[in-house]
Amino acid sequence: MEEAEKSRMRQKLQALKAEVLESLIAESKDFKAAVEDIGVKDLADVASNDIDARTLEAVGAKGKLRLQQIESALGRIENGRFGVCPSCGSKIASARLDAIPYAVLCIDCKSSSERRKTG
Ligand SMILES: [Zn+2]
Repeated sequence: MEEAEKSRMRQKLQALKAEVLESLIAESKDFKAAVEDIGVKDLADVASNDIDARTLEAVGAKGKLRLQQIESALGRIENGRFGVCPSCGSKIASARLDAIPYAVLCIDCKSSSERRKTG
């Protein structure tokens, strides 16, 4: 992945993360207090490992999962694995990454894993 594309995806993911954090803050007083405790100005700088595990638990599994998905995508940008399907090794279509920047699997592997799950 080219540098320009990397930084575009990084920005996209950070904006998404700030959005998720904002909605979690709106939903949970405990979460809001926890973020204020960290004292960050920019929500995109908040990492879920900065947040107390119990507070993260309070935002619910769904919010926690969303944050973790976004953070692991940011991690993959750093280690050069972003946009490559870990299951089959092919490149993930850029349209898919545009729609779901934190997608891990390519569309083929994703749909076959969903088929497996549902039997
Ligand atoms: Zn794949």
